[in-house]
Amino acid sequence: MKNKSNYLYLSKGGRFVLIVLLIVVSACASNKNTKEEFCSNADFVKMKKIDIHCHINTKRPAFMELAVKDNFRILTINTDAPVGVTIEEQQDFANFQQEAFPDNLRYLTSFSVKGWNEDDWLEKTMDYLDESFKKGAIGVKVWKNIGMVEKDKDDKFIMIDDPKFDPIFDYLAQKSIPVCGHLGEPKNCWLPLDEMTVNNDKTYFKDHPEYHMFLHPEYPSYEEQIAARNRMLDKHPNLKFIGAHLGSLEWSVDELAKFFDKYPNASVDMAARMCHLEVQAQANWQKVRDFFVKYQDRIIYGTDQGDYEGSEEDPVKLKEKTDEQWKSDWKFLTTGEPMLSWKVNGEFKGIKLPREVVEKIYHKNAEKVFPEFKKI
Ligand SMILES: [Zn+2]
Repeated sequence: MKNKSNYLYLSKGGRFVLIVLLIVVSACASNKNTKEEFCSNADFVKMKKIDIHCHINTKRPAFMELAVKDNFRILTINTDAPVGVTIEEQQDFANFQQEAFPDNLRYLTSFSVKGWNEDDWLEKTMDYLDESFKKGAIGVKVWKNIGMVEKDKDDKFIMIDDPKFDPIFDYLAQKSIPVCGHLGEPKNCWLPLDEMTVNNDKTYFKDHPEYHMFLHPEYPSYEEQIAARNRMLDKHPNLKFIGAHLGSLEWSVDELAKFFDKYPNASVDMAARMCHLEVQAQANWQKVRDFFVKYQDRIIYGTDQGDYEGSEEDPVKLKEKTDEQWKSDWKFLTTGEPMLSWKVNGEFKGIKLPREVVEKIYHKNAEKVFPEFKKI
């Protein structure tokens, strides 16, 4: 009341000055907001980021040296894949790197389905996992060999919803230990080469017809891979699950949205699938940006980069290549600048996410799923 009467008592000139002052103050405030709302190039190094999907199967320090320089904490993932080293050897590398870079690296263990038909497979697998957790593993990776390679004694593909896995997932859910699942492949893998949406898939499957599922209808379909994964999640609703590579739903942010709505304990990493988001942003920029904003708590940054024992790649080159990928992804997520990539035909534009969303994608979501990251 008193303020109102003071205002009324001001002369006409006084009122004008007051209004101008108010406009200036509010303009300054909104300027400050815009300044703080987005990230700059300098924030790339300033922000304490996490790359949640790497494979460092070597003792050489080059990759981790760059991670330290670029302010990345790294999750290196053991995988039951034919990478030339066993999962036990991969664990030794992870333990070595963790000791060398205790403030910047953690790892996921994995298990093999060799001996699946033996009576003691489950017991041996559980023992191996427990031993890994004692050594510092903070989660478990399951790979596409389940669903696409391994077969049971009846010559049927072992799928991820096989009841034999249930005690493992129950145990992990109960202990709140996350599972990262690379199950299935990009949908492109089941399409003819000329219908594939990104050039890297075209090149890869042209060079590797043995993995191009379009040519192998005897293998489980794309839909069967996704359905088996979903049935597994239906059985284990409390499991903390990270769908690697955008949960193999990379081709459609609409499908990802449905997945997030149906499975509230699931998140996804973006490893090696950024180009699929870039292609979708090229077709409908606003839709992709809105998707990121709506599901900002569910998407985690990852690249699938790494290093391996016996690699002849010059460490300087390795660092350059890795740094380039990290910076290109940062540009896409934080700026609205036009961009080019050999993987995508034609120009596309960065989605310039608000700082708050960028912080979640680059570390807060990972810290929520893996609280151990909060300690480093
Ligand atoms: Zn990977």
